[in-house]
Amino acid sequence: MADRFEDVTKSRSRSRRKDVIIVEVSPRDGLQNEKEIVPVELKEKFIRKLMESGVDEIEVGSFVSPKVVPQMKDTDELFLRIEKNGIRVKFSALVPNLRGFERVMNLPADKRPEKIAVFTAASETFNRRNIGMTIEESLRVFKDVIMEAKRNRFEVRAYISTAFWCPFEGKIPPVRVIKICEELFSLGADEISIADTIGRASPSDTRELLSDIAKSFDVSKIAMHFHATYGMAITDAFVSYEEFGVRRFDSSAGGLGGCPFAPGARGNIATEDLVFAFESSGIKTGVDIKKIIDAVSCLQIHPRSSISQIEKIIMYDAS
Ligand code: MG
Repeated sequence: MADRFEDVTKSRSRSRRKDVIIVEVSPRDGLQNEKEIVPVELKEKFIRKLMESGVDEIEVGSFVSPKVVPQMKDTDELFLRIEKNGIRVKFSALVPNLRGFERVMNLPADKRPEKIAVFTAASETFNRRNIGMTIEESLRVFKDVIMEAKRNRFEVRAYISTAFWCPFEGKIPPVRVIKICEELFSLGADEISIADTIGRASPSDTRELLSDIAKSFDVSKIAMHFHATYGMAITDAFVSYEEFGVRRFDSSAGGLGGCPFAPGARGNIATEDLVFAFESSGIKTGVDIKKIIDAVSCLQIHPRSSISQIEKIIMYDAS
């Protein structure tokens, strides 16, 4: 399988320069959408391999109620198990409320994530269905989580899902996203991940929203989170990178994930696809594609949500 990727892999080893930050979201955003429960030992192995791949950040899990998302029930144990062993990688975790934050603080200090993530949406209907709160209510809850997180010196990432399109409300006006960004930054968020939850953002939708965002905020604090559902994610990532200087991208190994609460929201952009596109264009990611593929295979599940192009090529080569 190596041959097709040799040039890209070699170029990686030649340089330590990185042009983009890859935030690997598969252990949380990927696995939460998978019905097959992955045992904690395999998650640990998966994360270890992702760490070795060279990604900059890994979203390890979610301190959500196990009743709501059973796949995330062992996040506490996972944090206790994983060892960095000198690898330079940042861990984050989704923390929906103060109850979740308590769980973070119950971990030994050296086992906690460096970054806490909170989650809201630009669509009222989606937010109500996803987390059972209005946008306003969710911001009130986050205010406390963000305050506690900052007080305890965590970095804070905030997600705005359905930032382009909502499965229930259709196209979301950019002004709404800008307003939520303003509130999240003023609450103390260090970075905001703008998510195209259903993968409907066209390059021109991306251009429209990002030109407004770039006028109002420091783009280095913005991450883009694209989904490959309609095949536009790579193009959207390039529009973000080349036209607006975005340097932070969320992606998911194997294209795992989507959103269990959004109809049709399959397919996070696959890390291997994004890395391949960037590296082939001379944009350094520092990520080893083969290690990403290897990480996914150790999960031993049959992903229902994966949309990875590179994986298809490998399967074809192997057959
Ligand atoms: Mg996603």
